[in-house]
Amino acid sequence: RQEAAELKQIKERFENVKHIILVLSGKGGVGKSTIAAQLAYSLASQDFKVGVLDVDITGPSIPKMFGLEDERIHETFLGWSPVFNSDNIAVMSIAFLLSHPENAVIWRGPKKNGLIKQFVRDVYWDELDYLIVDTPPGTSDEHLSIASFLEEKIDGAILVTTPQEVSLLDVRREVTFCKKANVNIIGVVENMSSFICSCGHESVIFKPTTGGAEKMCQEMNLKLLGKLPLDISLRESCDLGISFFNEVNESKAIRALREITETI
Ligand code: ADP
Repeated sequence: RQEAAELKQIKERFENVKHIILVLSGKGGVGKSTIAAQLAYSLASQDFKVGVLDVDITGPSIPKMFGLEDERIHETFLGWSPVFNSDNIAVMSIAFLLSHPENAVIWRGPKKNGLIKQFVRDVYWDELDYLIVDTPPGTSDEHLSIASFLEEKIDGAILVTTPQEVSLLDVRREVTFCKKANVNIIGVVENMSSFICSCGHESVIFKPTTGGAEKMCQEMNLKLLGKLPLDISLRESCDLGISFFNEVNESKAIRALREITETI
C-alpha cells in the first residue's frame, strides 16, 4: 500500500510537466550532459519552460553547465525546489546535496536508488513544457528505477554516441534496455562527428570504420536526430555555464543542436 501511495505522489509531482525526455549514453565522456544541457538551453531560447533533473551520480556536471556550481538544495513547504539559472531554467542536481561532488561516486545501489526515488517524489516542479533528465552512463539499476518511477510520463529517450565502434556497440545495449524498460526511443545523436577548425576546415577525427551512427541507425531502424561537431565555443559555453545560443554566429554546432531540438 505504501508503494501505491508513493506512486500516486510521484504522479502528482509531475502533473504540471508536459514532456519528460531522458538522455542516455553507454559510457562517460561522450557528451551526454552536454547534449542534455544544450537541449535545455535551446528549448529555453524558444521560450519553452524547461527543467533539468541531474541524476548522473558518476559525475554531476550539470550544475557547472548552468552556472550553479555552489548551489544547495532549497526546501519549501511544497518540497525540494529546483534552482533557477539566469536563463530561467529550473535545475535539480544530486550535486546540490553533496558537500563534495565526488562523494556520491562510492554510493552503492540501494542508496543511489533511494536518492533517485526521493528526487522524483520530493522535488516540486512548477509548470514545465520539458523536463530533461541527465542519467548516469550505462544501463544500470538506476535507469530501471527512473523508468519505473516515471513510467508513462516519459516521452522517450535520446541516445548519445560518438562515431567510434566502441561507442556504437553501447548504443545497441541502450536499445535493448529501452525495449526492456518500455521506454520509447526518440533517436540517436552522434556527438563529436567532426572537428571544425577556426580556419573552417572540417576533420573527421573519430572516423568510423563501419559506417558510424548513420549505418547503425539504418540497421536498427532508429532515427538519427543529428550530428554534432566538436566545437570549441560549445566547450567554452559548457565550462562557463552559459547558453551556447547567445552566440552571434550561426555555427554548424548551433544549427545541429537546433535541428535536434526540432525533432523532439
Ligand atoms: P558525458 O556526460 O557523456 O560524460 P560531457 O557532456 O560531460 O560527457 O562531456 C565531456 C567533455 O567534452 C566536456 O568538457 C564537454 O564540454 C566536452 N564536449 C562534449 N561534446 C562536445 C562538443 N560537441 N564540442 C566540444 N566539446 C564537447
